[in-house]
Amino acid sequence: MKVYADHAATTPMRERAKAAMIECLEGYGNPSSIHTAGRLAAMKLESARKEVAELLNCRPAEIYFTSGGTEADNWAIRAARYGAGRVVTSAFEHHAVLHTLEAMEREGTRKITRINPEPDGILDPEKVAAEADGTTNLVSVMAANNEIGALQPIAEISRAIKKSSRSLMVFHTDAVQAVGHIPVDVRDLGVDMLSASAHKFGGPKGVGFLYIRSGAELSAFMDGGGQEAGRRAGTENIAAIAGMAAALEASVLRMEENRVHLESLTERFRRRLAASGLDAVLNGAENRIPGSISASFRRAEGEMLLHRLDLKGIAVSTGSACNARSTELSHVLRAIRVPEEYAGGTIRLTFGPENTAEEVDYIVNCLREIIGG
Ligand code: PLP
Repeated sequence: MKVYADHAATTPMRERAKAAMIECLEGYGNPSSIHTAGRLAAMKLESARKEVAELLNCRPAEIYFTSGGTEADNWAIRAARYGAGRVVTSAFEHHAVLHTLEAMEREGTRKITRINPEPDGILDPEKVAAEADGTTNLVSVMAANNEIGALQPIAEISRAIKKSSRSLMVFHTDAVQAVGHIPVDVRDLGVDMLSASAHKFGGPKGVGFLYIRSGAELSAFMDGGGQEAGRRAGTENIAAIAGMAAALEASVLRMEENRVHLESLTERFRRRLAASGLDAVLNGAENRIPGSISASFRRAEGEMLLHRLDLKGIAVSTGSACNARSTELSHVLRAIRVPEEYAGGTIRLTFGPENTAEEVDYIVNCLREIIGG
């Protein structure tokens, strides 16, 4: 049996996304060209922007296409005006945020204050607001954690930091794991910037976007031509952008149906795991991305589990995809203080729409064979 349970690393492409891409690849106009071929390409680009904007409840001019989540995070954090000064963030951001901030700290342009999540993997908005003082010009907190799936109270954090009304402070959220999986409305969330990545919701790799609230001043990320309103130069990858818009629309349309399916799979996993007799803890609170599970097995070794499961045709992760090859305990597991005798034996399972109950049973049976046997 082949089981792909690593959707937080990347997702299979949705059929509608593939079809939209193929249609775009038939044409080859440059959207900056004035002739008919160029105008056709520009129409496709702008219709994708409109579709994405509608799904996030913002204006098309507030969506800037990027090469993915990493670029969107780098842009949000490095952009001038807000590109220097103190930043308040969480201790368990994705490395696209943390490493960018750490690089800036080494360059001497930023000072970082990291807030630890509570042991259930959720940040306390008041603790974030307490640190966001008059010297802070950027707050960056992820919407959903990529290792444990924990959803963060973004709207509450926004209200808490804005209560103290520091008009120069901008609020960014890395919503790469949230967009396409849970309802995301930028106005309700009260964010100034939001990063997303297509391959996490059934779109192609190497494309994403940064939402920038109109009025939030942000300098260009890439200089060159006038693409993306002069803020992100470079001829646009129209096929990938159209594929992303189609994938997002398909994900939003099926969101509720998908949530019900994924929650039934996670519940089944919990029940089967409890009945298996294996000594394990499940990390993070109930409030999580549907279908995501972080399980730590006592005195087991995460990397060994991953390889043994792989031999049985099961794809999971030990932590975030970015550190799947590292044997060190991840910064996320350290931040939520998973007990030492369990932490080293952590695997992340993230289900998707195509996973089945039989696959869940197969995973638990294999775990029992590997760890218990
Ligand atoms: N932010 C989070 C929370 C992620 O999970 C990822 C990818 O794993 C990224 C950013 C980076 O996105 P991309 O792969 O599009 O560069």
